[in-house]
Amino acid sequence: MSTISSTTPPSITTEEFRAFRLRVKGQVLMPCDEGYDEARALHNTRIDHKPAIIVRVADASDVSRAVRFARQQSLTLGVRSGGHSIAGQSVVDGGLVIDMSALDDVRIDAEAKVAWVQPGALAGRVADETQAFGLAIPFGDAGSVGVGGITLGGGVGFLVRKHGLTIDHVAGVEMVTADGQIVHASADENPELFWGVRGGGGNFGIVTGFQFDLVEVGTILGGMLAFPATPEVIKRYAEVSLQLPEELTSITMVLKAPPLPFVPAEAVGQPVLAAIVCYTGNLDEGARAVDTLRAIATPVVDMIQPMPYSAIYNLTADMTLPGRVSIRSAFVPEIGDDLSSRILEQVVQAPAPLGAVQIRPLGGAMARVDPTETAFAHRDANFMLMILAQWEDRAEDTAHDAWVQQAWQAIQPYARGVYVHFLGDEGKARIGEAYPGHTAERLALLKRGYDPENVFRGNQNIAPMEAVASRAA
Ligand SMILES: Cc1cc2nc3c(=O)[nH]c(=O)nc-3n(C[C@H](O)[C@H](O)[C@H](O)COP(=O)(O)OP(=O)(O)OC[C@H]3O[C@@H](n4cnc5c(N)ncnc54)[C@H](O)[C@@H]3O)c2cc1C
Repeated sequence: MSTISSTTPPSITTEEFRAFRLRVKGQVLMPCDEGYDEARALHNTRIDHKPAIIVRVADASDVSRAVRFARQQSLTLGVRSGGHSIAGQSVVDGGLVIDMSALDDVRIDAEAKVAWVQPGALAGRVADETQAFGLAIPFGDAGSVGVGGITLGGGVGFLVRKHGLTIDHVAGVEMVTADGQIVHASADENPELFWGVRGGGGNFGIVTGFQFDLVEVGTILGGMLAFPATPEVIKRYAEVSLQLPEELTSITMVLKAPPLPFVPAEAVGQPVLAAIVCYTGNLDEGARAVDTLRAIATPVVDMIQPMPYSAIYNLTADMTLPGRVSIRSAFVPEIGDDLSSRILEQVVQAPAPLGAVQIRPLGGAMARVDPTETAFAHRDANFMLMILAQWEDRAEDTAHDAWVQQAWQAIQPYARGVYVHFLGDEGKARIGEAYPGHTAERLALLKRGYDPENVFRGNQNIAPMEAVASRAA
């Protein structure tokens, strides 16, 4: 009995592996294979996990085979769609990674305003394809994020105030459960599973296809407005943003202005509040809404113009390239004098080339969905904050981690829960903050039903609820 390689768990024999490889229609990659390093690479380049096996699946039956094989061989399972897991949980060290990147079909029925999207498709490409029909799925702020990952955690982006979260547009999913079965979930079929996959992440199975209801989004008013950052400007921005029509969503960074061609020389290196604005709706009304935002101070950058919605991803492309990343995030109910001052103080001290506090005003359509309707329960959150450092040089890790930690300590007193997708590897208590109140219990119960052995744990993990008898013991 021979084993396949020194990095493969010794329990797997060549014969077992060969039989598995023969049955898989897609590609099976080992550490010695060409393409292995690209397949294990993640957006957060700090993560250097080396799986024993990567299975680039061709369809749902491949996913099922790979799940069963991983279980038989007691291999830890990871699921990778777009590779943007900030904590690096999709690529498991020494385990088996199911790589969904080849499952990237996008089919659109423009008349019915419905799309079927596979999880390996990237958000920006889907935006381009739906834009051709004046339609969209509300995803996040980065076109490079995988549909598989972003959708399952919630999905907060440039349309959140007008159209809510990505999950608010999911009509159904096809998925492979821990026992290798292919099942469907929707409002009519496995409704509790459908509740859980909309916010509960990849805890209940591997999604092989989504059905989305599309929203109408044609030409938007979009672009960047940047102001010199003062505590007063940060506070005004926060106040005004919640009062603006919900057609306007902005995602904003408070940071030291980088030396970009459109940044005036005198502003470079100075703290600025840079808002990327997306107004969807009547453009004249949009111009008035943008004027209200513009009036909070004198802009140093003003680049708002009509553009196709999908072009907004071009504006964020440079800011969302891979790199070494450290983050902390939280929802906050308000941004008053004290928090504004703290945000600015921290940004001024940031050592990273990109050291920022991101502010996302929420509300609108997101808040109108009942918190019990999906597993994303923070419907009443007014703002999401993220402390973000990104850099290139490994030697700088300690300095940037220390800044993120220091900024987090300054901001934490205002925190009220967290969005699961903006968690790093922060432990069980923080995952609990993503699922307040009854949501955590309901998810743990669902996990017990669908994945009692916690096969799907390469994620922000929800442990299966213990059986009543063992809890009482
Ligand atoms: C630069 C950047 C910008 C971001 N911007 C936003 C934003 O604006 N809004 C927002 O909401 N989020 C945002 N995120 C967070 C992002 O949505 C999550 O990290 C998401 O999980 C990434 O999805 P992925 O498929 O690219 O990641 P992957 O690393 O491939 O997967 C992440 C996790 O998702 C699960 N998963 C992935 N695919 C499947 C599947 N098919 N079935 C079951 N489980 C699966 C797994 O648990 C996996 O560990 C951003 C992240 C980055 C790095």
